[in-house]
Parts: sequence; C-alpha cells; structure tokens
Amino acid sequence: MYDFLIVGAGFSGCVLAQQIASILNKRVLLIDKRNHIAGNAYDYYNEAGILVHKYGPHIFHTNSQKVFNYLSRFTEWIYYQHKVLASVDGKKVPIPINLNTINELYGLRLSEREMQDFYQSIRVPFDKITNSEEVVVNKVGYDLYEKFFKHYTKKQWNLWPSELQPSVCARIPVRTNRDDRYFTDKYQVMPKYGYAEMFKKMIRHSNIHLMLQTDYKDIAPTIPHGKVIYTGPIDSFFDYKFGKLPYRSLEFEFVTLDKERFQETAQVNYPNEYDYTRIAEFKYITGQNHPKTTIAFEFPTDSGDPYYPIPKNENIELYKKYKEEADKMTNVWFLGRLGTYQYYNMDQVVAQALAFFENKLNK
Ligand code: FAD
Ligand code: UDP
Repeated sequence: MYDFLIVGAGFSGCVLAQQIASILNKRVLLIDKRNHIAGNAYDYYNEAGILVHKYGPHIFHTNSQKVFNYLSRFTEWIYYQHKVLASVDGKKVPIPINLNTINELYGLRLSEREMQDFYQSIRVPFDKITNSEEVVVNKVGYDLYEKFFKHYTKKQWNLWPSELQPSVCARIPVRTNRDDRYFTDKYQVMPKYGYAEMFKKMIRHSNIHLMLQTDYKDIAPTIPHGKVIYTGPIDSFFDYKFGKLPYRSLEFEFVTLDKERFQETAQVNYPNEYDYTRIAEFKYITGQNHPKTTIAFEFPTDSGDPYYPIPKNENIELYKKYKEEADKMTNVWFLGRLGTYQYYNMDQVVAQALAFFENKLNK
C-alpha cells in the first residue's frame, strides 16, 4: 500500500515525492509513462558524447532564493547566462530588443538616454492591453513587432499574437540599455552534471518507488494507493469529458557536426525565415568542451507530446471546467505545467510544488 501515487516524474512530481518521502516519511509510488525521469528537462549524452536536452534547451533561471536553495541540495551548479540572437533583415541582432539591437538594425548611434525617446516616438499606446500584439506594439510599435514577434509567434503557436493572451509575448522584455542577456534573474545557473543527475539525487530515498513506462490509467486500478498527485495533462485524467485542451508541441531535429562551434551564441531565433523557430547549440549552455557540437532545430507542431498549454481565452475557459471538477475531488491534486494548464518555467513549477507541500500536506 502506497500513501501517495504521484503521476509524472518531472519537476512537479519529483519535488513532491522528495518532500513527502523525507519530511512526512510516507511511502510514494512515482510513475512516468516515459522511460526516464526529469520530465521535459531530461538530458543525456548522445552518441557523440555531447550532453543534449531531449525536449529542447532548458535554461535554469529564478529570482527565488527558496527555489535555488532547495535545488542546490541535489546539485552543484555552473554559472550560465543565456544569450539569444534573432535573424532579422539579414542581420543577427540581440533579442530581447535593446540599445544594440536598435542601433545595429537601423544603423543608428543612439545613446541609452536617447532610447527612451526613441521608443516613445515609435510606440503605439493602448489604454488596455488585451492580447500579445498589443503588449509589443504598446512598447515598440508595428515595425519591430512585425520583424521580431508577429511571424515567430505564428510559427510557434499557429496563432497570431492578437489571438494570444498578453502574457505570452510579455515574457520578452524591451530594454533601453545594452544588456543582451535573455534573462535578468538573480540566479542563472545550470546543474553541473545535468538535470537527470539532479533528479536522480532528488528521488533517491527508500520511501520512493519509481516505475517508468507506466501509464496512470493502466496502473491505478491494480495498485492500492492513498492520495494521488497528478502532473500529466488535466484533461486526460477526466477522459476529455469537456473536450480536449489544446497543447502545442515541437519536433526536434538534432544534428551533430564535426566542428567545435556552429553559431555565434547558444540560440538563434528565425522569426521570418524557415519552418523552424530557433536553433540551439547545447555546448554553450552546458559548458561542455568537445571537438564536435550538437545543435537542435525546433519545428512547432500540433501533434506529439503536450509541451505548451496555449494561453488563449477560450482554452482558459475550458481549463476552468476541468479545474472545477478537480476542486471537487478530495484525494486527487493537480500540479505542474500540464496539471494546471499554465505556461510555467521550471522554477515556477518547483515553487508551486513546494508551496503546495507546505500549505496542503505539511500543515
Ligand atoms: P513535465 O516535465 O511535463 O512532467 C510531466 C510528466 O508526466 C512527463 O514526464 C509525462 O511523461 C508524465 N505523464 C503525463 N501523463 C502521464 C500518465 N498518464 N501516466 C504517467 N505519466 C504521465 N523552463 C525553464 O525554466 N527554462 C527553459 O529554458 C525552458 N525551456 C523549455 C523548452 C521547451 C521546448 C519546453 C517544452 C519547456 C521548457 N521549459 C523551460 C518549461 C519546463 O519544461 C517546465 O516548466 C517543466 O518541465 C514542467 O515540469 P512538470 O513536472 O510540470 O511537467
Ligand atoms: N517570441 C517572439 N520572437 C522571439 C522570441 C519570442 O515572437 O524572438 C514570442 C513567441 O510568441 C514565444 C514567446 O515570445 O512563444 C515566448 O518566448 P520564449 O523564448 O519565452 O519561449 P519558450 O522558450 O517558452 O519557447
């Protein structure tokens, strides 16, 4: 008899398994239908011996000291600050848009002080921001919106920014200085030995029993268990009774090249060309030295594993119906990016799991 059945061995499931096993001293059955732990953060050494992220580049960044301290119990870190270029008008310029981006793109020599006025002169203000197009246009106007956001977003989501909630494009700030880092969080680090190693340490406990290649629907009726924590897609738990929640997926094409470096930075975005959105080069991110290099192209698609909840008003309405059903259940809780249908980063998912443990399970 297990006290808890935890569905999904990603960040949400593993953080909770670790907390329940070690603090509550309860027995946990942790399952995942995949053949590995770490969920979408899973990494491994490929045939060439290069550390790659199976589900696309995962860069850890957080402002939460609590999340950072918690994960630091299971890994050492290397410092890494992510930098991204966007291929626009035949040039590769920094994104988020900053002073260098504007000067390089338009052949200007603006100073930091002049940038504020420059944005002021091109922005198209909105009283009320209702979608992702307005978020961008309100800051930088239509030309930069079209060059950097409009077509990237269409490729990534198969929706125009005007069809997505403001939060999607609001993830990307606009800067007046020359800071060309993708993130400005206080903690920007990568697990020194990779994510999978960190997860292994997290769930190494005699109270945790791990079963891989195990689907919840197959196992739930056969193994006696108490409470359930479900971190898979919430609609799948309820057999899609209100209809399917849309998720966006990606296909990754990995290519290993017989040279040390392929591109000038870890990630290059292609808003307006090609069917892929971006190319990542893993060695920049992991800090690995190797005579070869592996890159990954990301092709957005509707079919395949559910990677991204789609922040669109009607989807959120549908999610609310599932959430109401979930709230009626006394012994099942839903967490994580798929369980709560939230476009969360890794640190947000860890914070959610830790808060859930403290507020609900360890009162
Ligand atoms: P998941 O990692 O998705 O884990 C859920 C697990 O549940 C999966 O392993 C799945 O197999 C399992 N499961 C589902 N249904 C069942 C079932 N019926 N039975 C058994 N098991 C089941 N975040 C960042 O902070 N930085 C980044 O750079 C970053 N890059 C990303 C890039 C991509 C391409 C993607 C898709 C996401 C990225 N993220 C990034 C987000 C990050 O992946 C998530 O925040 C995090 O992995 C979510 O953890 P989770 O535990 O909620 O879900
Ligand atoms: N985005 C864009 N152009 C870019 C980068 C991002 O239009 O060069 C938009 C796009 O809609 C994307 C969203 O901003 O989906 C969030 O970008 P982020 O890099 O955070 O996406 P993720 O890493 O989660 O895929």
